[in-house]
Amino acid sequence: MTNRRDFLQTASALAAAGFLPRALPAMPTQLGSIGAEPFRARPCVVASANGLRGVQVAYDQIVAGTDPLDAAIAGVNIQELDPDDQSVGLGGLPNAEGVVQLDASCMHGPTRRAGSVSCIEDIATPSLVAKAVMDYTDHVMLVGPHARRFAIEMGFTPQNLLTDKSRQDWLRWRARLNPNDAWLDYDGNVNIRFHTGTINMNAVTAGGDMASVTTTSGMSWKVPGRVGDSPIIGAGQYCDNTVGAAGSTGRGEANIKACGAFLAVEFMRQGLGPEEALLRVMQRVIAMTEDRLLGPNGRPRFDLQFYALAKDGTFAGATAYEGASFAVCDERGARLEKCAFLFKASERPR
Ligand code: ASP
Repeated sequence: MTNRRDFLQTASALAAAGFLPRALPAMPTQLGSIGAEPFRARPCVVASANGLRGVQVAYDQIVAGTDPLDAAIAGVNIQELDPDDQSVGLGGLPNAEGVVQLDASCMHGPTRRAGSVSCIEDIATPSLVAKAVMDYTDHVMLVGPHARRFAIEMGFTPQNLLTDKSRQDWLRWRARLNPNDAWLDYDGNVNIRFHTGTINMNAVTAGGDMASVTTTSGMSWKVPGRVGDSPIIGAGQYCDNTVGAAGSTGRGEANIKACGAFLAVEFMRQGLGPEEALLRVMQRVIAMTEDRLLGPNGRPRFDLQFYALAKDGTFAGATAYEGASFAVCDERGARLEKCAFLFKASERPR
């Protein structure tokens, strides 16, 4: 029989040897301790630049009292349902086999819940399916045909998401892929490289409740089944109601390895403002990047943008190179603002 004294001695010996966790010091929370006074935030919505229309919609909804996640999803639905936005939802660029496969995820700060779908086909609004996973299941993530079947069971209507423009772009890409295959090159100008594009949106209400959502058709011409960062909780978006929310667009493969959205929120928890937090995330991404994706000057060859919103309504966008912008809506209205950056555009490797 081990008595309590023996047990404590053994436990502290094990802890000293590194086998048991020591008591950890309390983590700082930037804005988590708000005392007895009701918290007053500046209502604000922050998104990728293609969310300029959506941030206004989401902002109007949160000031009218709508839940921040419902408002942010209403904002991204505009792009998902816009056939001319080839980075998301209806009209998104397809994978290598000409099939549109979508990814989305969301987090609801007040309830600390999350939902996600990946490689879902035929459903134009994967952001809403991600929320349905969150609302109606004990799970966080559903993928592929199972996500599609779940969506249909939940009342979503399947439809062909491949618009004629996206189909033509895919045919041109395929024709120009290999000069020695049986496909004749098309006229026209299609970039044979991968295209990226996505919408991320983060919202905070006057009461300090927060939410985040990211939705995308992912990298164009991707290997079927490829999963980007958008549906990965902590990579494509993350929200902690005591601190803030963050999300990303751009090369998901680079972001996944740094858990960028989670890291941004953690940096804010440690006391950094949104801009400084995002620039540090970008530095971490570059530090985690394999050599083939870096130029001789060590600068990344890809694009990746981050967006962050703190619980007090301060916000930022950031990326590696000067020139990008992001969308924001607060009491001053919807507008594009410049992303913070690490390098001049001239430093981008050719
Ligand atoms: N992040 C998305 C992905 O990697 C694509 C993008 O934002 O452009 O799937």
